[in-house]
Amino acid sequence: MKKHNFSAGPCVLPQEVLLKASEAVMDFNGSGLSLIEISHRSKDFVEVMEKARSLALELLGLENKGYQALFLQGGASTQFLMTAYNLLETKAGYLNTGTWSSKAIKEAQFFGEVVEVGSSKDGNFNYVPKDYTVPEGLDYLHLTSNNTIFGTQIKQFPKTDAPLVCDMSSDIFSRQLDFSQFDLIYAGAQKNMGPAGATLVVIKEDILGKVSRQIPSMLDYQVHISKDSMFNTPPVFAVYTSMLTLEWLKNLGGISAIEEINEKKAQLVYSEIDLNPMFKGFANKEDRSTMNATFNLVDEKLKDTFDTMVKEAGINGINGHRSVGGYRASMYNALSLESVGVLVDVMSELERKG
Ligand SMILES: *Cc1c(COP(=O)(O)O)cnc(C)c1O
Repeated sequence: MKKHNFSAGPCVLPQEVLLKASEAVMDFNGSGLSLIEISHRSKDFVEVMEKARSLALELLGLENKGYQALFLQGGASTQFLMTAYNLLETKAGYLNTGTWSSKAIKEAQFFGEVVEVGSSKDGNFNYVPKDYTVPEGLDYLHLTSNNTIFGTQIKQFPKTDAPLVCDMSSDIFSRQLDFSQFDLIYAGAQKNMGPAGATLVVIKEDILGKVSRQIPSMLDYQVHISKDSMFNTPPVFAVYTSMLTLEWLKNLGGISAIEEINEKKAQLVYSEIDLNPMFKGFANKEDRSTMNATFNLVDEKLKDTFDTMVKEAGINGINGHRSVGGYRASMYNALSLESVGVLVDVMSELERKG
């Protein structure tokens, strides 16, 4: 039976992408060789890398605007330190909206002063702070657009003179934004784009080269840009699969098309959470993420019953993160509206039994 995969990451990918990726592992482009056994310097793979990089910029509307796209390794977690290594000279601002922001702050502190411009820690990160001021003279302001664990999402981005750095790991390519307001965007592939192993970094080139410290090659964005994202052996399978997902998204109609579907999915699950007395939502309503819906049972004693029903319906991956408990339905781009319908049916079935 086909499973409905609500996993928070690594996440569900389009079936056609999985099929094409598996074919390429056996025989890449009819070459008689596997994608993962050919040289990354071969013409065929260089084309894949270039296509992945240009599709990323195209879908974000950032072509010919001074941006470069890179596919790096080390996950979004390496970007926590790499952004600071390359951009933090004296002082940077961070909006602390959850576990991932907190980790980014910890890494940046190795490189300079970190000002926490706002934090929702007092509410166990169930909301996004809004009435904060951004101090003058920051090297950059760091934001996490979607808080995967707590299920909140920034809807309105601050206007500031400071360069904006944004961790978009769990909502990149999911909604329309003016992406040119950001100077650096990073995202681990495994939330909304591909398998683990590649991290997309989109950088406005003119923000680089301003710190006085020396940067080791592997952590230097300028080195990766100068080598067309091939300074060392790239994660070929992750890049290829990401490229296939970006192609899939483009054929679907791009971000505006997927945004419409994502909003329908989110609306369906949140209206069930709000109308069904067996459940309560975790995140503040106005800050609710369209990607990760967090909710709890009102009566914890029903946990075993609900979990069994969920399992029988072929639903995978809705257990909440240990810091929130309860449930989390992650509805990334490739999750169908139909899968969300199955979850909502199980939730209303619990109410009928209740
Ligand atoms: C998952 C996640 C990360 C960590 O990504 P890795 O690739 O595992 O290092 C960072 N930020 C956000 C918002 C995430 O969801």
